[in-house]
Amino acid sequence: MLMKSFLEGVINRNKYMCELGKVADYIPGLSTANKNHLGICIIDTSGEIVIAGDADVKFTLQSISKPLTLMLALLDQGEKYVFSKVGMEPSGDAFNSIRKLETGRMRKPFNPMINAGAIEVCSMIKGKSSAEKFERVLNFIKLISGNNNLKVNEDIYKGEKETGNKNRSMAYFLKGEGLISGDVEDVLDVYFKQCSIEVTAIDLAKIGLFLARGGVLENGDRVVSEHIATIAKTLMMTCGMYDGSGEFAIKVGIPSKSGVGGGILSVIPGKMGIGVFGPSLDLKGNSIGGIAVLEEIAENFKFSIFN
Ligand code: GLN
Repeated sequence: MLMKSFLEGVINRNKYMCELGKVADYIPGLSTANKNHLGICIIDTSGEIVIAGDADVKFTLQSISKPLTLMLALLDQGEKYVFSKVGMEPSGDAFNSIRKLETGRMRKPFNPMINAGAIEVCSMIKGKSSAEKFERVLNFIKLISGNNNLKVNEDIYKGEKETGNKNRSMAYFLKGEGLISGDVEDVLDVYFKQCSIEVTAIDLAKIGLFLARGGVLENGDRVVSEHIATIAKTLMMTCGMYDGSGEFAIKVGIPSKSGVGGGILSVIPGKMGIGVFGPSLDLKGNSIGGIAVLEEIAENFKFSIFN
């Protein structure tokens, strides 16, 4: 297992990278994050946990919620139905891009890791009301992170709702195409809330461990089939870092999902879960320090799944 002193060295060596990025400011509330925060938590399948840097600072899940809701939708609706409404292909566009919804060959969002695809996935979660649907999402994330105290950051949620007009336009477009049934604002409410759930790098590492164990909790309980966990990890690998996924696959080679709150959820299948936090982002919306940290660790320990 990795030594704490080594991880602390990795954080210190890569901290300068935080200066080179920018915290997200298009959602009110995200802009107040401390650009210099950088932290990591790693948990292996024996349960050993190592943390370094700002691993206990809270931030919002944002897009890291996407593979999680996807697993719940797959449980609720099955693979065939889910992928009849959302694709499995990298889009090559920014996470919030709208253009391929109309011009793309597929006539559906390219994949569930971009905003349009994730909103589509939200519309598939079972529940009598939007509140019940979100409660199921929150309970699912509580279960797989082993953290019963997770909750929505209300300020960020309000900010997402007030400023989320681009997401709103995509959702209405999807409704127009017959890909969303029911009330669009209700679907968006689930999406905005899931993005606003507050976590730490430690929570992310626990979720990563759950995926590393193929959908099984630390107590041995199976929550999703191995196949569903594999779908989530595969889409994280091919699309999880948006239009930076290809470069990340070469430089790091670990299935990962980023969010504009600065988190990265990483999984080394069968081995460990990793949570990284650094709110200073690169031009594609990925944690700039977080990627640098993962790169150093992956190179040092030959963690790329392609090695
Ligand atoms: N809530 C954010 C949005 O919809 C999530 C995007 C992200 O983390 N990349 O724009």
